[in-house]
Amino acid sequence: MAYRSTNPFTQSVEKSFDELSDEQLQARLQTAQACFTDTWRDHGFAQRKALLKRAAGLMRERQQALAELATREMGKLIAQSVGEVALSAAIIDYYADNAEAFLAPEPLKTDKGQAVVESSPLGVLFGVEPWNYPYYQVARFAAPNLMAGNVVMVKHASNVPQCALAFEQLMLDAGLPAGAYTNLFLSKDQVAALIDDPRVRGVALTGSEAAGAVVAAQAGRNLKKSTLELGGSDAFIVLEDADMARAVKQAVSGRMGNAGQACTASKRFVVLDAVADEFLEQFKAAMARFQPGDPMDEASTLAPLSSADALDKLEQQVQTAVAHGAKLLLGGQRVAGTQGNFMRPTILADITEDNPVFNEELFGPVALFFRVPDEAAAVALANHSPFGLGGSVFTQDVERGRRVARQIDTGMVFVNSAAVSLPDLPFGGVKNSGYGRELAASGIHEFVNKKLIRVA
Ligand code: NAP
Repeated sequence: MAYRSTNPFTQSVEKSFDELSDEQLQARLQTAQACFTDTWRDHGFAQRKALLKRAAGLMRERQQALAELATREMGKLIAQSVGEVALSAAIIDYYADNAEAFLAPEPLKTDKGQAVVESSPLGVLFGVEPWNYPYYQVARFAAPNLMAGNVVMVKHASNVPQCALAFEQLMLDAGLPAGAYTNLFLSKDQVAALIDDPRVRGVALTGSEAAGAVVAAQAGRNLKKSTLELGGSDAFIVLEDADMARAVKQAVSGRMGNAGQACTASKRFVVLDAVADEFLEQFKAAMARFQPGDPMDEASTLAPLSSADALDKLEQQVQTAVAHGAKLLLGGQRVAGTQGNFMRPTILADITEDNPVFNEELFGPVALFFRVPDEAAAVALANHSPFGLGGSVFTQDVERGRRVARQIDTGMVFVNSAAVSLPDLPFGGVKNSGYGRELAASGIHEFVNKKLIRVA
């Protein structure tokens, strides 16, 4: 019973699911491959679009039920779950509406003959997805690839099996043929075996560095393309000319959204000396106001973490940081006297380079605070990280913001806001945050054959 829904607020186990047998996995792969060769790749864009538009519509019709399922399985505040469902439907619509234009044949300027690059699908793709945004993560992998003519198989995280099944059901109810979208409850050995299978033509993983390294190595051994969307420790730079009210508001939402369990959450707050006290005072006051409560209750502001293990790990990271000399400015431990996995909003300062937490991702409501003398020091500290996912810079001088953004070694930088994800903004990182992009036009070009056709 490796796939299990455990409510992070009540700790009750809602449902458990068996992993597939090897025979069941083979049968599903066979169905997926047949769907690709016999049906899906030959559907025109119009037909695929009609089906995916129906899926997006159904997702909106089922918004409340889907949102409640996510909150029950991984603990997100209900309003944030509702927002995630809406964003996921928007991603599906976006690719339904734009895929044909994104993948239009590209005639080449050539001195001799006529040449064109056409985008054709690769076949069966395999996605390994995380629990933190149980619909959005899957939508941003499935929608572009289905519209490109690929079929997709998904191994979702083991703590969100009901969300995984609900997404698959949505696709079936929308009328997609069996095998176009397949959910798989797999063991890690089966993940490896599936990547080895010659019918699987590409692999995408969103998750931790450890999982990314395992899955990408397996893909590499098989000479298959992979994309990796991994962790981050995004810097949030506040320059001396920032709009302070805006910076504080964005700092709080950037750190606390999804109870801090976002790869692009703002994690390292890098503030220029001139405004550091002002920022810290307001940031600390706002972080202290969060109230733990039932995530189904609209009045709750602090959600539980996704699992008891996640809470243990985060609390341990904070204790280790303090043992290595970090100063606790707020919080520091779990909320006592509740069965929910609540971590108090926490702020740590005085973090030296030899403190383990300096290079770690903190997946929860824990902020690292740094003072720096000037802009150059802020950029240097932002780049002093194994990760390279996102980052933010706050200044009222937009040109200065762009200049600083260009110097930050990440895949995304946001001027005057915390990270946002929208269907038309490419998403992905560099360094240990992975490679490849999802969303926007970039997201549909990862798993297609850019085929040259030249006529002499
Ligand atoms: P995780 O443990 O890596 O899990 C992610 C997925 O990988 C799950 O489906 C998991 O399955 C699977 N997995 C784990 N180890 C595996 C292995 N050895 N072989 C095959 N599959 C394996 O990630 P997490 O800690 O739950 O999720 C949070 C991480 O994801 C954070 O680091 C976060 O920053 C990152 N993330 C990145 C992005 C992005 O877009 N860059 C977005 C969201 C999250 P099981 O559940 O069965 O273990």
